[in-house]
Amino acid sequence: MRKTPEFEDCFAELISLPSVSCVDPAHDQSNRAVIDALANWFEALGFDCEIMPLSADPEKCNLIARRGDIDDNSGLILSGHTDTVPYDAKGWDTDPFKLTKLNGNYYGLGTADMKSFFPIILETLERLSDVKFDKPVTIVATADEESTMSGARAIQQANKPLGRYCIIGEPTDLIPRHSHKGIIIETINIQGRSGHSSDPTLGNSALEGMNDVMNALRAWRTELQAEHHNDDFKIPVPTLNLGRIQGGDSANRICASCELSMDLRMLPGMEITYLREKMHRVVKDTLAGSGLKVEFNEQFHGVPPMQTAFDSELVKMSEKFTQMNSNSVAFGTEGPFFNDMGLETVILGPGDIDVAHQPNEYLQIERIEPMINILSKMLNHFCEGK
Ligand SMILES: [Zn+2]
Repeated sequence: MRKTPEFEDCFAELISLPSVSCVDPAHDQSNRAVIDALANWFEALGFDCEIMPLSADPEKCNLIARRGDIDDNSGLILSGHTDTVPYDAKGWDTDPFKLTKLNGNYYGLGTADMKSFFPIILETLERLSDVKFDKPVTIVATADEESTMSGARAIQQANKPLGRYCIIGEPTDLIPRHSHKGIIIETINIQGRSGHSSDPTLGNSALEGMNDVMNALRAWRTELQAEHHNDDFKIPVPTLNLGRIQGGDSANRICASCELSMDLRMLPGMEITYLREKMHRVVKDTLAGSGLKVEFNEQFHGVPPMQTAFDSELVKMSEKFTQMNSNSVAFGTEGPFFNDMGLETVILGPGDIDVAHQPNEYLQIERIEPMINILSKMLNHFCEGK
C-alpha cells in the first residue's frame, strides 16, 4: 500500500506551489508551502521531520527529514533545493505552474531544476518499502539556493550531524559530478568629481580610474591563471570576467562616477575570503594617490569551489551505478557547504542544465526510471538495505 500520492500527483503539486527565490525582493517568495508538502509526505513514510526557518527570514525554511539513528555519522543524504528562479510568463507555451506532459517531457517551472528530485525520492522509497535499512536515510530540502544559498549556509552553521554521503539531485543528465568551481560576484564603484571637459583640473575622472583598475584586474587574472591549474575542468584555470560597466553621462563632462560588475570563478583550493581581500588590494593600490574613492559591494558572499575526492566511495559507486565517468560541473551548488561539514558529496540528477532557468523548462520522462534505479542502488549500498 502506497503511503504517499502517486508520483505524478506529488510532482504536479510541487510544481503548482510557487517558490521563487531572488535577490530582488519584488520577485522573492516563501518556499514554506513546498516544505510543508514534503514534510507531510516524508512523515507518512516514517521520517522524523524538522522544519528549520531561516533566522534572517522565517518565511524561508529548510527541511531535514530522517529515518534511522544518526549517532555513528553514516548513511546517505539526498538533498535538493525547493526554490526556483523567477520566470517570464510570456516566454512559456504552457502554464509554468501546471505540470504538463507533452512530447515525452514534463514541462513546468522547476521540473529540471530541481523539484522533480523529490517525487523521484518518494517513488524510490515507496518501491523499497519492504527493505530494512541499517543506516540512516536523510532528506534535505533547502531554501534560497538560486539566490543567496542562505538555506545551505544555515545548515552548515547549525553543523548538526547529517550523515556521511550526500547526493544532490541538481540537473546533470544522470552523470555524476564531484567538483565545480566557486564564484564571487562583486561590484566596484569609483567616485571622482565632475567638471567641464575643457579643463582637466576642474574634475577627477572616475572613468579613467576604472580603466586603470580594469587593466590591473586583467594583469592579476594573468597571474592567477599562471599559478592555478586543474585538469578536472574544461576551462582548467580560474576566470575573471568584467561583465558590466556604467559611468559618466556626457562627452563634455568629466566622469564623476563609474561602476563595474565582475565575477571571479575559482578552482578548488582557492579561498573566497583571501581572493576577495586580494582583489580589493589590487583595486586600492591602483587608485592610491589618485584622489578617487572606491566602494565594493558583494552581491552575496560567494559560493566556494567543491571537490570531493575522486577515490571517495560515493564517487566510485556513482560511476558504477550510472556507468558514467564522474567529472566537473559548470555551475555552483550547495555541495561545498555540505563538504565543509565533513560530508562527501556528489551532484547527480535527472534534469538537463541547458533547459533550466529558461521558459519551457522540462524534464525528459525517460530519465525518471534510470534515476529511481540509481537511487535504489545507492540506498541499498550506503544504508545497507536487507
Ligand atoms: Zn538548481
